Parts: sequence; structure tokens; C-alpha cells
Amino acid sequence: MEVKLAKTAGFCFGVKRAVDTVYNQVKQPKQLPIYTFGPIIHNEEVTSDLEQKGVKIIHSEDELEELEQGTLIIRSHGVGRRIYEIAESRNLYMVDATCPFVKKIHKIVKEASEKGDFVIIIGSREHPEVQGICGWCSGDYTVISTEKEAATLSISEGRKVTIVSQTTFNLVKFKYLVAVLEKICYNPYIVNTICNATQERQAEAGEIASSVEAMIVIGGKNSSNTQKLYEICKKECGNTYYIQTLKDLSAQNFQTVCTVGITAGASTPKHIIEEVQLHVRTNF
Ligand code: SF4
Repeated sequence: MEVKLAKTAGFCFGVKRAVDTVYNQVKQPKQLPIYTFGPIIHNEEVTSDLEQKGVKIIHSEDELEELEQGTLIIRSHGVGRRIYEIAESRNLYMVDATCPFVKKIHKIVKEASEKGDFVIIIGSREHPEVQGICGWCSGDYTVISTEKEAATLSISEGRKVTIVSQTTFNLVKFKYLVAVLEKICYNPYIVNTICNATQERQAEAGEIASSVEAMIVIGGKNSSNTQKLYEICKKECGNTYYIQTLKDLSAQNFQTVCTVGITAGASTPKHIIEEVQLHVRTNF
């Protein structure tokens, strides 16, 4: 069996760095508790493994305010300034695994706010990354994600504007919304802060799917980015299978094929990808 494994399968750079950070902390000889602000990754296998190793998840500022001691790890999405302040006031040891691409946005909006700019964040206001970015805006700011929100924005004449984006926002939509905003904003400072890890993973998955007889997409059943990968691959290759782990793979589906492609969603651990790859190479 010829297997084509996507180079971009699984964790992106920022998520890998954050997960590695937690495992490194677990290995430290410290006895103090370790917390992550929100789950480090949306993968049950990883979070329950970390839970067994003693890592606890903090879900809110209120929970954080009650901590007495320990290490607080910030995940790749990042958090607002207030979380750092609370952690400091509680004497927690902070380990910051915010993705550097997200950190860059924090810096842009912080400096823009300090200069007096109105900050526009293009993204989904419910997303933790966006909430973290908002937490670095000290002046006026807003979050928009639709044409209507962009077109009806009211900004006083001559007010300087800085525009950034959520890292995973759709590039085409970002450009479109920026074009709408340019009509109502005076000479805005636009920074395209979209990270192309997701786009690259999707493009590679589509390319591989179009050149193989069967395609395997690995990821959690609730993972929206894995679902999207599956749709892209299914369009290119009718024989596409969505699995969570090796257990879901049925050899029957691969009896008549000679080439198989494999990709995986952003929160799929490397060992699951390798296990599937090895199994397909040696048993099919
Ligand atoms: Fe991954 Fe890009 Fe998000 Fe960083 S910004 S965590 S590299 S998707």
C-alpha cells in the first residue's frame, strides 16, 4: 500500500508548542498544582491524560481568583491583560504558551489603543482568542464579522482606526469586510493577522485527496476543522473516511485500493496519526 501522509496533518506550530509546554511542566519536580486557563486543546484524549497527570482546567476568572498557589499555563489562544493581573495578585507562577502570532495581535491592539486609535477586530466575538485580544484594548474597540456590522459602524470623522483579524478568520471574508470598512474609516491601519496554518492544511488535504484512491481524515467528532477537512477531501475523493482513532478504521473499505492519503485535524495528536499510518502501511 502506498501511503501519502500530509505534512500539515495534526497540530499546528502554536498548538504543538502549547501542548508540549504542559507536558514539560508536568515533568518538573515541583509539587504545586498545575492549571491551564481553559482546556489546552479540544481533544479529550489529551485533556484526560493531562487530568490524570494532575493538570486541572480553570474555566473562569472567578475560579482563578480562588486559587492559592500553583502554576497557571496560558494556552495558544491567549488571554486578556486582566488574567495576567489576577494571576499575579494570586502569586501564581505563569507559563505563557500564547501562540506568538496571537501575541503579535495583542501588541498591535495594545499600542493602537495607547495611541488613541479605534480598534476593529474582525472575528467571532465568542471565540476565546478574540476575547483575549479584546482584553488588550484599553480604548474604544469593536468586534465585527458581518458586512452589516462593518457598514453600520459609526466612527467619528478623522478618528484613526486600526484593523486586525482573528488568526483563523477566512481570508476572502476578511478582505471583503476591510473593503467595506475602508469606505467609512479615515485611512485605516490594516494588519492582516490571519495565520495560514489552517489554509495550508486544507489545501494540502485537497491535493492529496485528488491523487489517491482512498483518503483517511483523523479527528475528534466535534472538531469543526476536521469536519471541514473531511468535506474538502470527500469532494476530491469519494472514498474518504472520517475516523477518530485506529479503532474506527475498517480494512474492508481498502481491499481494492493501492494508494491511501492521510490527513488530520488541528487537535489530533501525532501518535494517533502515526498509529493509523503504520497500520495502513503494514496491514492493508
Ligand atoms: Fe496555530 Fe496559527 Fe493559531 Fe498559532 S495562530 S495557534 S499557528 S492556527
